[in-house]
Amino acid sequence: MELVHTTAELRSRVCAARSRGEIIGVAPTMGALHAGHQSLIRRAREECGFVVVTLFVNPTQFGPNEDLSRYPRDLDGDARASASAGADLLFAPPPEEVYPPGYATAVTVEGLTAGLCGRSRPTHFRGVATVVAKLFNMVQPDRAYFGEKDYQQLQVIRRMARDLDFPVEIVPCPIVREPDGLAMSSRNRYLSPEERQAALGLSQGLGAAEALFEQGERDAAALMGAVRAVLEADSLVRMDYVELVDADSLAPQERVEAPALLAVAAHVGATRLIDNTVLRPAPESGDLEP
Ligand code: AMP
Repeated sequence: MELVHTTAELRSRVCAARSRGEIIGVAPTMGALHAGHQSLIRRAREECGFVVVTLFVNPTQFGPNEDLSRYPRDLDGDARASASAGADLLFAPPPEEVYPPGYATAVTVEGLTAGLCGRSRPTHFRGVATVVAKLFNMVQPDRAYFGEKDYQQLQVIRRMARDLDFPVEIVPCPIVREPDGLAMSSRNRYLSPEERQAALGLSQGLGAAEALFEQGERDAAALMGAVRAVLEADSLVRMDYVELVDADSLAPQERVEAPALLAVAAHVGATRLIDNTVLRPAPESGDLEP
């Protein structure tokens, strides 16, 4: 695997691969790579001839009081993790390569970004959409791999790619969890042992709601209430939101009648964590194919 820092080097490697007839895959990341990121890279390796991992801690998606300056950075470890998952190229641009002096353009996806994380992070998705649009233009991938862990981000990028005619297929990848259920996240390394234990409330709350759903519960308030009850039981956890929304449009729902996203965000100590699950009602018998 090769490591490059400039767009010119990236383009020359991607052009060479494309002229060999390879399909180009990309997994955009902010580094501090873990098995969740590696699942994206492995999937890209299976489906593409040339796999690019991008590593850029994007300043424009952090709010003023968020963790940009202390976000974990480990280029050597990330290079090893990318190579072992099968990447061909790691692109790690410095900030000025992505945002040259005088940079003045942004991409905004309306609607989808208003709720869920957009409510407490009002500038976040504009930063995400802008940097992903730029990375798509830099890499020019055929396929781009994103985790369902950041479900709202995935929907925002799908919409942006469709609305702006990016010739790229967005490939969603399932959430990778620790053995005890905690969704893997670069931010998990901030957690003290007590906070690490408390953080299990997110996946356990979602698990409680999933169990209710399996028993036939379809009422959003009851399902959200099951998550809240678990989170509120731990004083180290400060809930940001628990919401049940349509899995496609992200519009709030009162009942689960179509695939619904049950999403949670909470602060555990000073660390903000997110998790989600998609609840899929079985098709009614009348909907079955004959
Ligand atoms: P990040 O480095 O946090 O910006 O994440 C880069 C990509 O990895 C995004 O598409 C995330 O959704 C994905 N990702 C992060 N954590 C996980 C996980 N636990 N399971 C699956 N994908 C993940």
